[in-house]
Amino acid sequence: MNAPTPGAPAPDAGKEDHKPTNFLRGIIDRDLEQGTYASRRWAGSPGDAAHQQQGQPDPARIRTRFPPEPNGYLHVGHAKSICLNFGLARDYGGVCHMRFDDTNPEKEEQEYVDAILDAVKWLGFGWDSAFKGQTESHLYYASNYFDFMYRAAEALITAGLAYVDEQTPDEMRANRGDFSTPGKDSPFRGRTPDENLARFREMRDGKLPDGAAVLRAKIDMASPNINMRDPAIYRIRRATHHNTGDTWCIYPMYTFAHPIEDALEQITHSICTLEFEDQRPFYDWLVDNLATLGLLTQPVPRQYEFARLNLTYVITSKRKLKQLVDEGVVTGWDDPRMPTIAGLRRRGYTPEAIQLFCERIGVSKSDSWIDYSTLDIALRDDLENKAHRGMAVLDPIKLVLTNWDEVFGAGHQEACSLPALPHPPEGTESPVRHFTLGKDVWIEREDFEEVPPKGYKRLFPGNKVRLKGGYVIECTGCTRDADGQVTEVHATVVPDTKSGTPGADTVKVKAAITWVGAADGVAAEVRLYDRLFTDAQPDAGGKDFKASLNPASVKVVTAYVEPSLATAQPDQKFQFERFGYFVADRHDHAPGKPVFNKITGLKDSWAK
Ligand code: ATP
Ligand code: MG
Repeated sequence: MNAPTPGAPAPDAGKEDHKPTNFLRGIIDRDLEQGTYASRRWAGSPGDAAHQQQGQPDPARIRTRFPPEPNGYLHVGHAKSICLNFGLARDYGGVCHMRFDDTNPEKEEQEYVDAILDAVKWLGFGWDSAFKGQTESHLYYASNYFDFMYRAAEALITAGLAYVDEQTPDEMRANRGDFSTPGKDSPFRGRTPDENLARFREMRDGKLPDGAAVLRAKIDMASPNINMRDPAIYRIRRATHHNTGDTWCIYPMYTFAHPIEDALEQITHSICTLEFEDQRPFYDWLVDNLATLGLLTQPVPRQYEFARLNLTYVITSKRKLKQLVDEGVVTGWDDPRMPTIAGLRRRGYTPEAIQLFCERIGVSKSDSWIDYSTLDIALRDDLENKAHRGMAVLDPIKLVLTNWDEVFGAGHQEACSLPALPHPPEGTESPVRHFTLGKDVWIEREDFEEVPPKGYKRLFPGNKVRLKGGYVIECTGCTRDADGQVTEVHATVVPDTKSGTPGADTVKVKAAITWVGAADGVAAEVRLYDRLFTDAQPDAGGKDFKASLNPASVKVVTAYVEPSLATAQPDQKFQFERFGYFVADRHDHAPGKPVFNKITGLKDSWAK
């Protein structure tokens, strides 16, 4: 994904005109024009000023990063951030770093690391760059920077820019003030650098219990921005870290760690969601001071905020999604109803559809809600001319062609076929699906009415319809069980009317119905999914999202599918004629024992 050669136009630079423009592209264009980052050097790996200064001029025109915390599976909101960060790097001849923000010792697991890498790759992105034929992998772990972060903290202390505060958490909160009241200085604020350094080392050496002290940046307790009122930058926490084990009992705070991670990696544009806007002054304070102190190289990275994705009927919080998994509300992180990338994948959404969706929703600086149908429209646009057509009967009832044996001879199976793609790519021919028609046929229960409602054009006694791709038939009646339920529909086949033969048009019909031959149709489990929540904004304003769980979010039916569907490979997508898009489930489907998930219908039914 990253650019091939330095200075060369981005792989699709010629297409840039078609790319949606946004404020971030405006910023990057301006930075490139002004040469803001032209003097940067890159030593081949992340590192401090001394390290990077030994490097070559950075062949990457920009560096962005995607920095998830490995505490859950990625969701559709992350997809927006992935498409944005990797997409900008691709389009501008830059590099996007894949970085795990694993500075929090709790809640982080290898399973999540693996799932995150898998999701990014599946979406179509990678973290290798190749400049002048030299390949570099840009997969980084923030926990590898703990040593530097500690050093940065000591440097700030020495410069009089940080102090160890031993107020209780309650005192600290009270003295922070609020929007209308300035904060009050901590009694520990006046400690000398030497005192602070000694005390900070005691924190590091495990001499103080958890929570007994924090290291704070010394900025301004009266700042109108509360984030600038001496924010905590290191805390004591005895926890085993998945990467560094028990090496540390102090850990950096996110707001301290993140700008440093960016700077060590020579990131140029650090793109995050709007919640971090108020953190930007501290981001700048920190990287500017560390650069002045000679620890970080100039020019330093800058942070830019964009509006997070809010999608109707969906929650995008790893914590809440984890709750659904842990409480068994869904079958797992990749349940096809989950808005995780793994869930969307299993549901049948394609990387192309998700990329298209992200491109269409664009990037802005104000929060809004995107209608879920936008994602489905992108899916249909992607699959319309790609997904093979097939017939499936989802609510089957038996149709018996009572004159079949007389017309064709007992046991006859008539070979039928239809194109798999009504609009094959230019210059190609559609593949052909083969299936057979015999005396017994599966049709949809709703395609027969003994007493037809007004305007009904399908099967009712005396009416003729076409079995799609097969013959015209005339309905003669039905049989019912003791409860009056229709058990079989009866019809006669009209000879010489087969689709594609000269006689096909001799009998005019008003409807063609979908069907599957009883002889070669295969029983399939079909999972019909609906939205997981009934509320369009399930967790907005602190609402209890579990109160609006849709009790009918999945309905499983036994369907019959034509042979071309029964031999599908896992993950293969189809358009079931008249019903919509379906995918062979990547876990449970096996050729011959088909299991399909409904992705979405043919038209938008969400709005109704
Ligand atoms: P969550 O609350 O779900 O854990 P997060 O923002 O804490 O989300 P991170 O793992 O820190 O999750 O996110 C990695 C990146 O993805 C961040 O840069 C973050 O801004 C971005 N991101 C997360 N959620 C969204 C969203 N809904 N829309 C756009 N970007 C998002
Ligand atoms: Mg987070």
